[in-house]
Amino acid sequence: MSNICALCSAELTSIDTLLGENKLSDGGNLCNKCLDKVSSIHQELLYNLNTFSIRDIKSLVETGKIQPETIEQPQENKIKSMTVFASDEMPRDLYKRRFREIKYQLEQVGANLSMFTKGEIKELPYILAVDEVILAATDAQFIKTVDAGMLLVTPKRIVSVSKAMFGPVKVNAYPNETISEVSFVSNSISPVIKLHTENKIVEFECFCDRLDGERFYDFIHKIYNQNKAPKATPETKEVASNLIFEQLEKLGKLRESGILTEQEFAEQKKKLLDQLS
Ligand SMILES: [Zn+2]
Repeated sequence: MSNICALCSAELTSIDTLLGENKLSDGGNLCNKCLDKVSSIHQELLYNLNTFSIRDIKSLVETGKIQPETIEQPQENKIKSMTVFASDEMPRDLYKRRFREIKYQLEQVGANLSMFTKGEIKELPYILAVDEVILAATDAQFIKTVDAGMLLVTPKRIVSVSKAMFGPVKVNAYPNETISEVSFVSNSISPVIKLHTENKIVEFECFCDRLDGERFYDFIHKIYNQNKAPKATPETKEVASNLIFEQLEKLGKLRESGILTEQEFAEQKKKLLDQLS
């Protein structure tokens, strides 16, 4: 299988290929940037991409539209299969939009998530608030379980999401004010991240990627262990705002390269800035 984007020839990342949704009918793959670019021209591409070939995509990019006969038939089936996932009251358009934003954010934070977290990622639009931005993510599961799982950091909380193959999703949220400190147990195979909350210590094991787990811990350590130092709050805020400014910079680049429209950029920017207050 080719490991480069069929449209822009950029090397594909694990986030690009993780969900298997970037696949084209001819076996090629699009990177998330190209997927977002083309799906902003034609929304249905987000769900029907595998019915298009690279030739269709190229003509779509050139003409700004695509021949209707290519999409009519598969579209119907796709909508039906999608209702399986739409267990919530979230409007489909909103779900799609959020899913796309979340994929962006996961890519921007550079998380190395295993393929076992596919189910979790799809649940994220229902789990995160519509304006909740992901600052960090890693593949981690409750210690002593075999369920896949991930840990996410947003400006307001740490969230663990875990989903067994056919089971319901399990979500645990730890609001910032309940986390007194975080700690880490190094291990050459699977380090453990501990969240110390008011009444208990919750442990997560990172057996997908030790280095990614370490990187993630490094990040949360900066935010949550500030409390041990005097005058904690302003510093915590400063770390969070630095992170948000980094995100803003990345957004700016996405706009410059035409991946985000002016409107999308403005919306994302507002969300980020709102979290500073
Ligand atoms: Zn590409």
